[in-house]
Amino acid sequence: MRKIIVFVFLFSVSVCLIRLASAEIFYSYGPGNVKKVALTFDDGPGSATEKVLDILKEKNVKSTFFLLGVRVKSSPRMARAIASAGHEIANHTYGHVNFYSYKGKDKAAKMERELLEGKNIIKKITNTEPLLVRFPYGYLKSDAIKTAEKYGFYVINWTFGCDWEKMTAEEMHDRYRKAVKNGAIFLMHDLDKNSKVLLFLGDFIDELKKLNYKIVTVSELLSL
Ligand SMILES: [Zn+2]
Repeated sequence: MRKIIVFVFLFSVSVCLIRLASAEIFYSYGPGNVKKVALTFDDGPGSATEKVLDILKEKNVKSTFFLLGVRVKSSPRMARAIASAGHEIANHTYGHVNFYSYKGKDKAAKMERELLEGKNIIKKITNTEPLLVRFPYGYLKSDAIKTAEKYGFYVINWTFGCDWEKMTAEEMHDRYRKAVKNGAIFLMHDLDKNSKVLLFLGDFIDELKKLNYKIVTVSELLSL
C-alpha cells in the first residue's frame, strides 16, 4: 500500500512538473469548462476490439484508440476497421516497452525507435498518421516528452482508468462513474484480459449522455 501511495505521489509530482515545463505537449485531461469527456482504448487491436467497436457504433460515439505497432502488424484488418469506423488512431509505441524499468544504455535510441516504429506501422496499415502518443505505463519522464516533441507528437495520459484482476465489472463501472467530470480522459483497454469493460461500456456511455456530456476524441477534447 505504501508503495502505491509513494508511486501515486511521485506520479502526481512528475505530472505537475511536466505540465509546467511542456503544457502544450502533455495532457492528462481536457478543459474543465465544457461538458466533454473522451474515452480511450489502449493496447489493441485486441480480442475485445470488435465488441468495443460494436458498442461505440450502437451508441454513435467516436473514441481514441492508442494502438500498439506489434498488434497492428498482427491484426491489420482490425486496425483498419477502427480507422474506417471514424475513430481516432493514436500511437502506443511498437512493443509496449516499460521505460520506467528499461536499463539499456540505448534507452533514448530505443524510445525513439519504439515511437517511430509504432507510428510507421500504424500509418502503413491504417493510412492514418497518428498525432498523439501514450507511452506504455504512462511513462512521462522528460526524455519521453522531448522525443515526442521532436517528432511532433502530443503526449496523452489519462484522468482516470482502472482494471485490476480482483475487481468486478460492477466495481469498475462504479469507479468510472465516480470519476466523471468535465474534460476527463478515461483509460480503458480492448484486450481479452480486459474484457470486463464490455460489461459496462454501453451503460457508462448512456449515463454520460444522460448527464449531458458530449463524448469526443482526445484531439477534439483538446482542440488539437
Ligand atoms: Zn498499454
